[in-house]
Order: sequence, then C-alpha cells, then structure tokens
Amino acid sequence: MPTFKDYYKILEVDENADQDTIKQAYRRLARKYHPDVSGKAGEEQFKAINEAYEVLSDPAKRKEYDRMRRGYQAHEARRRGPGFERVVYDWSPEDFGGFGSIFEDLFGRDFGPSRTETVPEETVRVTLEQVMTGTTVNLTVQDVKECVVCHGRDRDCPRCGGSGQVIEPRRFDVTIPPGIEDGAVLRVGDWARLRVEVAPHPRFQRQGDHLVGRLMVSVPVAAAGGEVTVRPLVGENVVVKIPRHTNHGRMLRLKGLGLPHRGTGVRGDLLLEVVLRFPEPFTAEDDRLYEALKANHQEVGGEIHAPR
Ligand SMILES: [Zn+2]
Repeated sequence: MPTFKDYYKILEVDENADQDTIKQAYRRLARKYHPDVSGKAGEEQFKAINEAYEVLSDPAKRKEYDRMRRGYQAHEARRRGPGFERVVYDWSPEDFGGFGSIFEDLFGRDFGPSRTETVPEETVRVTLEQVMTGTTVNLTVQDVKECVVCHGRDRDCPRCGGSGQVIEPRRFDVTIPPGIEDGAVLRVGDWARLRVEVAPHPRFQRQGDHLVGRLMVSVPVAAAGGEVTVRPLVGENVVVKIPRHTNHGRMLRLKGLGLPHRGTGVRGDLLLEVVLRFPEPFTAEDDRLYEALKANHQEVGGEIHAPR
C-alpha cells in the first residue's frame, strides 16, 4: 500500500486551521526539528515539516492537496468497506496538473497513472443468445459518498465514524450491446467497469461474428440431396437445402444467420459442418440396399489421414 503524507498531522494542526495557525505551527516545529538543534535525528522530520508547510501555506496548493486527501480518505474507506477489494479514486494524476511531482512523493509508485487498475470492475456472464439480441444487466457498485449527517465535520459522527464518508450501494442498468465480444469491458457511470464474459454454448461456437456448429445429416439425404430443418441460435427454424452428393465434413454457409457485428450490426454467417449419420435402426430393406451399394464400391476406403 502506498503511504499517504498527511500534512495536517505533520504540522499538528486541524484540517480547518487558518493560515496564521499553520504558520505558527510550522515555526514551532521548525525550531524543534531544525538540524542545528536536533542534528541528524530531526532531519527527516524537518524536511517533512517544510514540505507540508510549502503546500499548506499556499492556498491554491492547499486546495488541490485537500481534494487529493479526500480522495485518499475515500479510497481508504472503500478499502475497508464490505466485500470491496478493488478501489477507485475520485481524482486522477491528470487532474493534478503542475502538482505532479508532489503527487509522486505523496503516494509513491503504486499511485501512478495506471488508473484503470484501481477502478472497481465487476464481471457479468451472458449467453450467446444475449450476445445476439443485446441485453441489460443491473449492477450494484459500492460507492463512497460524503456523510450527509456531519459532512465530515464531526469526529464522533455515528454515521461515518468521523471519516466524513459512507459507503452506499449504487445501482446501474448497464446496456450490453448486441455483438459484444467475450472479455469486453464496458464503462459504468463515470468510474466503474463491467467485464463481459460470454458463456460457452452447447450447440454453437463463436468465431468472430460467425457461428459454427456441426449439422447431423442422414446418409441417404446427403447422397441424394434433400432438406433438413435447422434450429438457429434465435428465431424461427430454417430449412437448409443439402446438395446432392454432400460428403461428411462439408461446410454449409448460411449467410446472415450469425451474430451482429458490435459496431455495424451487420450479421455474420452460420457455418455448419456436415456430420453424416446412418438412419437407425437398420431395417432389413436398408441392409439389402447397403449390400447392393457395397458391391458397387469395393474400391473406396482404406487410406489413412492424420487426426484433425
Ligand atoms: Zn458523519
């Protein structure tokens, strides 16, 4: 964890202290820890006091510092909050402008510009059907609000315990657009994030905007040509024409029956790999016909291919 330098504590003043009080405190502590007086032992403390005074004595810097300090306190409150592992800050290094170097000193490297890593991120799992149509999910994020009872002015406040902040659940309806990719991250409000995972589907596999599946076709239909009724991912059944002499492994492409592209809404295709199946049970008539076919095709088969 980064360490936060509390300049008010360093100068031993209240956070509402006026400029005179801050100046007096600084002079008193500077005398106490001056290297001429306390030698090496007071050196670190002397530096800290000067740094604190440099910021708190300048109204503009103090204002910025106060904002950061509140952010840090909010972060601490969140960190201690129930079931909340990741944290969010109400400010970002970019907001801090010319104060950058002091910012580094205050927070150390952990607080660098990698703000995205510190934003709360929830995960939601959606079905392939929901990817097709788009959906809405309700998301509750633990947010930190200013205490409305004391506004941070009461150190014994029963509501916030003096921190000035309370954790409150905040509800969002998050729209998940059609065609969302597995692992996509959506912004929620102005700070939280929602990661979308797409659950595996028992019948279809996703390949970009295309859907891929294996289509069972009976040997007679594949040989003579015919039609099969197919249940797509969503919507009405469709009749698929099986061309005459369709062999095992042939790919059939059903245009526009895939997933919508997230940006354009243009739908991909449904790719079906033909899997040949013998109609069962085998009847006496089937056996007779297959025997006749076999007599005509003794030369087929016997070659070996590596597994796919
Ligand atoms: Zn309070």
